[in-house]
Amino acid sequence: MASPLTVPVTEESRFLISDLCDLLETYLDKQQVREVYRAYLFGAEAHEGQHRKSGEPYIYHPVEVARILADMHMDAQSIIAAILHDVIEDTGTPKETVRAEFGEEVAELVDGVSKLTQIKFESQAEAQAENFRKMMLAMVRDIRVILVKLADRLHNMRTLGVMRADKRRRIARETLDIYAPIANRLGMNQIRLELEDLGFAALYPMRYRVLSDAVRKARGNRKEILNKIESAIRQRLDQEQLAYRLLSREKHLYSLYKKIRDRVGSFTEVFDVYAFRVIVGSVDTCYRVLGMMHNLYKPVPGRFKDYIAIPKANGYQSLHTVLFGPYGVPIEVQIRTEDMERVAESGIAAHWLYKSADKGGRNNAQTRAREWLRELLEMQRNAGNSLEFLENVKIDLFPDEVYVFTPAGDILNLPRGATAVDFAYAVHTDVGNTCIAAKIDRRLSPLRTPLLNGQTVEVITATGAHPNPAWLNFVATAKARSNIRHYLKNLQNDEATELGQRMLDKALHNLNSALQEIPDQVFDQLTRECGFKSREALYADIGLGNRMAMLVARRLVPLEGDEAARAQETGHSQPLAIRGTEGMVVHFARCCRPIPGDAIVGFISAGRGLVIHSESCKNLAEYRSRPEKWIDVEWQKGIEGEFSAEIRVDVTNQKGVLATIAAEISETGSNIENVSIEERDGLDTGLNFTITVHDRAHLARVVRCIRKLPAVMRISRSRH
Ligand code: MN
Repeated sequence: MASPLTVPVTEESRFLISDLCDLLETYLDKQQVREVYRAYLFGAEAHEGQHRKSGEPYIYHPVEVARILADMHMDAQSIIAAILHDVIEDTGTPKETVRAEFGEEVAELVDGVSKLTQIKFESQAEAQAENFRKMMLAMVRDIRVILVKLADRLHNMRTLGVMRADKRRRIARETLDIYAPIANRLGMNQIRLELEDLGFAALYPMRYRVLSDAVRKARGNRKEILNKIESAIRQRLDQEQLAYRLLSREKHLYSLYKKIRDRVGSFTEVFDVYAFRVIVGSVDTCYRVLGMMHNLYKPVPGRFKDYIAIPKANGYQSLHTVLFGPYGVPIEVQIRTEDMERVAESGIAAHWLYKSADKGGRNNAQTRAREWLRELLEMQRNAGNSLEFLENVKIDLFPDEVYVFTPAGDILNLPRGATAVDFAYAVHTDVGNTCIAAKIDRRLSPLRTPLLNGQTVEVITATGAHPNPAWLNFVATAKARSNIRHYLKNLQNDEATELGQRMLDKALHNLNSALQEIPDQVFDQLTRECGFKSREALYADIGLGNRMAMLVARRLVPLEGDEAARAQETGHSQPLAIRGTEGMVVHFARCCRPIPGDAIVGFISAGRGLVIHSESCKNLAEYRSRPEKWIDVEWQKGIEGEFSAEIRVDVTNQKGVLATIAAEISETGSNIENVSIEERDGLDTGLNFTITVHDRAHLARVVRCIRKLPAVMRISRSRH
């Protein structure tokens, strides 16, 4: 449905491919222009039958986008990419086809533009707009992608009138929030100003009309003064026989609007401004012209700004001054060189000017973006001021961050390499602590998946779920790391408290006493003497292996001579039961890997708790000298759980033997945790499996099943 604002494009005003080629021939070589033409034929065929909202053939749009870039003298690849910028997204032409036809570089550019087109900006919040700009910049590896996208947006804004009103407003807001600031960041003033004025007109049509009427009227009234000032300036410059260009500047409506809105000046102050720009050959001449202007009209004190010595963050350089004109009207004058003018108009794109004959690919484009940054840095350094504000530009251009959406459309930024777990903790500590899975772009994904720019991430939580120590291996943010650590520390503490209490109770039993038989005041006094605030803290200290349960028990139940000796002896008949669920304070030694059914002993290890060894473990000899660290343990009756055991299988070399054994192991309900292979000669091989079993009976079943396989020569449980 065409709106009444539709502007019909007449044939005469149509910018044709032949016009584009003429324009390109002024700075590209013939071969490159032929390539552009070939891209045009390719694009026209791909878009065949498609029309824009205005009814005109689709290909007119990419040609206009290319024209905007050609006006900035962008290189041939950028122009070709501009012509093809919608073919992947809108015609389904595969990237590979673009690559085959026009090379890697063009294909990457077109693909980059398509990816930017796919991410949608929904949020209204100011801070989100900043994040969205960063996201866009983070997504491109070649800054030319942004330049093509800006040109695309500019042409869409120029032809916005055909859109439905609500869509028009959305696009206009996005242009003001996202694209104009990016153009500003890159120093592309000309594009920024046009985007702003078009955006302003579309977003606030009434205010735009009122303001432009007021400006037109003010200009008409003051035409005479304007002419008078202009000729006075010309006369003064001619006297010095300078080569110069004098431009009478129009104030842009959006910047006027912002000044009025933000009350920077009164209405008349904002309007009663005559603005000129003098462009000369050298920096030296700039300062001379400044002197002439201050000589011609008195300068307004405090309004002179030397952006040549101290350039703006985006590289803008110029002298600015304000003069008292005839009848006291203020005159703004900008003075700069041709080079500065070019940078002021095109910013980063100025680096492609006159350099288009250079060979080289994306690296070259990146080199130029860096060159631009380096030049900014240089200018700042020469100006002798802080580099800090330049950091903004650098960070914005090459951010070391990823930007992802929440399901609500908010943007979170995370360091590169961040995973779904980092995202969960960034949303909220509780979300992190209870997350169990994630949906990335609506697909269920593992929590460890590294996130990419522009993805939408949804975290799935479950009540009662808790952080996994393994997450520490892949999280990238300090927040996630410290929260997981904190949780584990609490967990360890809880587990240590529980174990410590059991160990102390057992020690008391050995002394023919029990925890519940100890009077409160006796216990509390001991707790204080040991330097703890609570009983639980004392239990935890025992559980962590820092304090011997038997020594604590003795202090609670002081015994004399024979009685003590007898108690010690009988005590050995009551070992501590190992349940397999003690968690982080009971460890099963990796040397002997005890499983339920094995005779075991416990060894207290300060800070870690109990380490359980098999009684037959060879390493036990080492600990003989420290009997006070030993503790009698036994498996809890009816213990359930999974325990690691190692088996060694010698097989004759046969095809698929490993797979056969692996299948057999899983048949018995056991999992393989690890397998290592050791080939001795061509005939037989040793396989070491680490598997999980419930107990000795389960392990025996596994061994029986494997032994009956024909290829198996020997099988044994291995211990180190
Ligand atoms: Mn487009």
